[in-house]
Amino acid sequence: MGNGLLVVISGPSGVGKGTVCKRLLSDNDKISLSVSATTREARTGEIDKISYYFIDRKEFEDMVEKDEFLEYAYVHGNYYGTPKKYVLDKIDKGQDVLLEIDIQGALKVKEIYPDGVFIFIMPPSMEELKKRIVNRGTETEEAIARRFETAYKEIEYVFKYDYAVFNDEIGVAVKKIESIIEAERCKVNRQTDIIKKI
Ligand code: 5GP
Repeated sequence: MGNGLLVVISGPSGVGKGTVCKRLLSDNDKISLSVSATTREARTGEIDKISYYFIDRKEFEDMVEKDEFLEYAYVHGNYYGTPKKYVLDKIDKGQDVLLEIDIQGALKVKEIYPDGVFIFIMPPSMEELKKRIVNRGTETEEAIARRFETAYKEIEYVFKYDYAVFNDEIGVAVKKIESIIEAERCKVNRQTDIIKKI
């Protein structure tokens, strides 16, 4: 593979990963987002092929069969997967790609591609996390309870990641992620042609 960065961001449900990633992408045109495929229904405001590729179960299974996913996982009752081709093509061309995926998926990616940069977004507190899940208001009470329970267990996986960033204040969290990415790009082992540059 080439030397684009594969940046993987996860964190518990409701932590604000989506908002953090959106801001990161809008402020950094060198990073592009990998759009996942999912079998879940689109929420209000979500756009097919931009938010996700909204596909049905049969289409998803066909893609699994054809080995078209870098990773896929069953999350909160639905399938989600990262289409392989987009990510690998970008990285091969030296471009950075952002994956916003769940923990199971991130750990699978880490196995296949340990060179990735794995960042875990932490909530300011569990209380605040619960508030954020409830306030999102897009789901049933049962779905909210399930998400919170999962979130609670997920926090422990932070130790499998390279970096932990608290999302108390979005601007600060995004700045920290930008600093991480900048530092990763400066790593000597990512710059094999460093001598040729001078
Ligand atoms: P939501 O339904 O709220 O958009 O996402 C639910 C969870 O699925 C989030 O934790 C999100 O990061 C995760 N997710 C989204 N796309 C993918 C993917 O391609 N692979 C995996 N493993 N998880 C994903």
